[in-house]
Amino acid sequence: RLSPQLSGSGHVILETADRRGDLIQGPKGRLDLAACEEANEISYFQFPGELLMRMLKMLILPLVVSSLMSGLASLDAKTSSRLGILTVAYYLWTTFVAVIVGIIMVSIIHPGGAAQKETTEQSGKPIMSSADALLDLIRNMFPANLVEATFKQYRTKTTPVVKSPKMASEEAPPRQILIYGVQEENGSHVQNFALDLTPPPEVVYKSEPDTTDGMNVLGIVIFSATMGIMLGRMGDNGTPLVSFCQCLNESVMKIVAVAVWYFPFGIVFLIAGKILEMDDPTAVRKKLGFYAVTVVCGLVVHGLFILPLLYFFITKKNPIVFIRGVLQALLIALATSSSSATLPITFKCLLENNHIDRRIARFVLPVGATINMDGTALYEAVAAIFIAQVNNYELDFGQIITISITATAASIGAAGIPQAGLVTMVIVLTSVGLPTDDITLIIAVDWALDRFRTMINVLGDALAAGIMAHICRKDFAQDTGVEKLPPRET
Ligand code: ASP
Repeated sequence: RLSPQLSGSGHVILETADRRGDLIQGPKGRLDLAACEEANEISYFQFPGELLMRMLKMLILPLVVSSLMSGLASLDAKTSSRLGILTVAYYLWTTFVAVIVGIIMVSIIHPGGAAQKETTEQSGKPIMSSADALLDLIRNMFPANLVEATFKQYRTKTTPVVKSPKMASEEAPPRQILIYGVQEENGSHVQNFALDLTPPPEVVYKSEPDTTDGMNVLGIVIFSATMGIMLGRMGDNGTPLVSFCQCLNESVMKIVAVAVWYFPFGIVFLIAGKILEMDDPTAVRKKLGFYAVTVVCGLVVHGLFILPLLYFFITKKNPIVFIRGVLQALLIALATSSSSATLPITFKCLLENNHIDRRIARFVLPVGATINMDGTALYEAVAAIFIAQVNNYELDFGQIITISITATAASIGAAGIPQAGLVTMVIVLTSVGLPTDDITLIIAVDWALDRFRTMINVLGDALAAGIMAHICRKDFAQDTGVEKLPPRET
């Protein structure tokens, strides 16, 4: 951060200190003030995009709570459990298929052969073990404080602890070599310099449960869904709260309808701002091009062939018409890299353009935005195998199976926020003993791939709603549920 006296042009000389705190002499680095000013300008340029993200995030909480509570309360116990089981089974199955597509693609294209391993800087993202990641997932399912869950989620904090080297007397090898020379003037021996052999301090990582910024959507989904089911079982006693939620849901959807007008403008600035931030787009493209092509090919096969064909075979309806109906949501997913943030628009598209029963959309979409991430699962499998290829690490069949199962689990655990999949990648890598530090290899292109996989995540949820609406159409024709509440008097 620049202090006010440092604005303007020119350079600041940075000096570093050695371990004892003495200054090492001479210029060690230069901070380009002009570059700092440029970064400020970029942040102004990004402001309209930031506004778009803020609008979407503002709507998630009331939308998820009101839609799940009113949606599930409106179903009778039999219908809600049938819909629940079918939806979750469908989600798990399609996610697994996505992983298989990814594995086939990465085996055919073999991007790791074309890539150069290089040591990129640590991303600053915490590296945690897969056990910690699993515990975080479960913690997030049961938030201790619902209010806190609206802005914080559980994420194990991994901090480096520097172990100081043992005292010299404790170990045999010398810590210092003293180099002597002969002083020219009087021939006496003098110590010229000492070569310090003290081993560098050992760094170990300590993990402890912690929270990080960001809504705990999983916890809120689980609480609201349970509450909705219970309200449905309470019959007439639950009616006041259910009508409150219905009213809230309708008003949020009206806000969405207004906000939609701003979106095209916000999208342009959001993507342009990201491109401006990149250091050297050409270099990035060259290094990880093959890997990116593999992920995108897999996403295209899964999103444009497998899922639409599945939709066609189950519903006998035209998938192109359906996808055209959710195009706006797909664009928002591309712009925001967040399936949770896209949720309000997916809702709107399904209800208005594809005429999906709102009770189904209210259940299938929020649950899908939390656990169904076909794009993320596919990318996690491709990335893990790519890292194995780069390291010349032969994966056997058992390890490929492990990758497919853990990639499915990791995608379920990923939150619907930008680059969440990058964090849960740790689960996949550690499961087959690949170096988690190598996540840094793929960071450079992740911001772009994240947009495409989020599109497929959102498309998967939307098509699932279409398929569920078809499968459960008889249940819903009979059961009018709480929609049978008396119309509100105006
Ligand atoms: N950005 C993705 C989503 O929101 C998650 C991920 O793959 O990082 O769906």
